[in-house]
Amino acid sequence: MVITTIFEPFRIKSVEPIRMTTRAQRAAALEHAGWNLFKIKADDILVDLLTDSGTGAMSAEQWAAMMRGDESYAGASSWFRFRDRVQELTGFQHVIPTHQGRAAERILFSCLQVRGKTVVSNTCFDTTRANIEAQGGRAIDIPTPLAKDTQASHPWKGDIDLAALERILGDASQQVACVVHTITNNSGGGQPASLRNLRAASAMCKKAGVPYYLDACRFAENAWFIKLREEGQHDRSVESIAREMFRLADGATFSAKKDGLANIGGFLASNDDALAAQEEQLLILTEGFPTYGGLAGRDLDAIAVGLREVVDEDYLRYRIVSTKYLGDGLRRHGVPIVEPPGGHAIYIDARAFLPHIPQEAFPGQAAACAFYLEGGVRGCEIGTLMFGGRDPLTGKSRVAAQELLRLAIPRRVYTQSHIDYVVEVGREVAARKRELTGFRIVEEPAQLRHFSARLLPL
Ligand SMILES: *Cc1c(COP(=O)(O)O)cnc(C)c1O
Repeated sequence: MVITTIFEPFRIKSVEPIRMTTRAQRAAALEHAGWNLFKIKADDILVDLLTDSGTGAMSAEQWAAMMRGDESYAGASSWFRFRDRVQELTGFQHVIPTHQGRAAERILFSCLQVRGKTVVSNTCFDTTRANIEAQGGRAIDIPTPLAKDTQASHPWKGDIDLAALERILGDASQQVACVVHTITNNSGGGQPASLRNLRAASAMCKKAGVPYYLDACRFAENAWFIKLREEGQHDRSVESIAREMFRLADGATFSAKKDGLANIGGFLASNDDALAAQEEQLLILTEGFPTYGGLAGRDLDAIAVGLREVVDEDYLRYRIVSTKYLGDGLRRHGVPIVEPPGGHAIYIDARAFLPHIPQEAFPGQAAACAFYLEGGVRGCEIGTLMFGGRDPLTGKSRVAAQELLRLAIPRRVYTQSHIDYVVEVGREVAARKRELTGFRIVEEPAQLRHFSARLLPL
């Protein structure tokens, strides 16, 4: 017999207790929170799959590195360890530390002066789109057409649509400020882009003289998929694939809360001297001095170590296999998921799961609330609650292209039995899905409404 179990490649030396809750307690918490899971206390959650962002467990080496953190205002040794690792990995000359990914986005789109211009992406993440629109720019998503069919098991649903890209880059009326390739594609299902697609998009942008950026939050997971799935890449190391991905780009934004394996942090990087000089000025104005950028020295050290640990192939094998394990379990109980399972999360296709709830009534949110009520599992709606609302240009209310419930898996936090539990909760929700109703919004802010809106069941 061959042993096939892939177990968590770590031991646990520090634990956080989970406080059990009853269904009645969870019903009360939902009502109090206006059916918005962002407003529920973490203590009232059993398995928290709201996000994989900043929720990972750090390693003993990272905690040790934090003790080495140099909190000098300028020129701290922590900064040099951080900068050196980012430069080694990405090849970018200019590295600007930021407190998280969206700060890098704000600085980038502000300095690129996207007002009146277009930013093209496979799919902009919510903060990316919001930052482009807040600066007066327009975001256009052109994912590969293969990504539309959530049930098709295509390996590269994170690809950008090259034909559409060529058309937009060739259209003089478009004024493209930059192209942002999100790897893996978070909002589109955590799906990877192929090296082939990255190479082609990079070449097209170079020819058109348009900067090609990576939203590189999950570069290591994407590189692992390339190693697993792409012809000619199986024998390369993840580090080598990742380096090539970055070297195809003119710059990158990064949230260290994902593949930085840290709880906070990020960076903005490029090789553009003039742009980087402007970005540093804005950084000083709003984030901090260029050798810390809104982070403590110890955070920079934790990220420097995290950026090495994340390309460890035993870690990545476990990471991707355990995500697939959740997807396989839910599918077995008749819960439709975006296929194939992505890197950091399983996305339930709420439109297919709850066809009796129209998009205007937020089927993804209905599924999210049901998972919480049934078993204290918190996921995140990625659909019309997140991406709908008023179009800033036309003023019309819009529905999202997809209605998803994302179950994101924190890095190195939960074990297989936690995931087995989530699968059982999915089974119970599926058994009662016809009783679920939609929602209406009773209170919402102008931007990023999903974080603070209040809802009521219909
Ligand atoms: C998380 C994320 C961001 C924003 O990063 P924050 O650290 O949350 O500000 C941007 N893009 C993608 C794809 C992300 O997943």
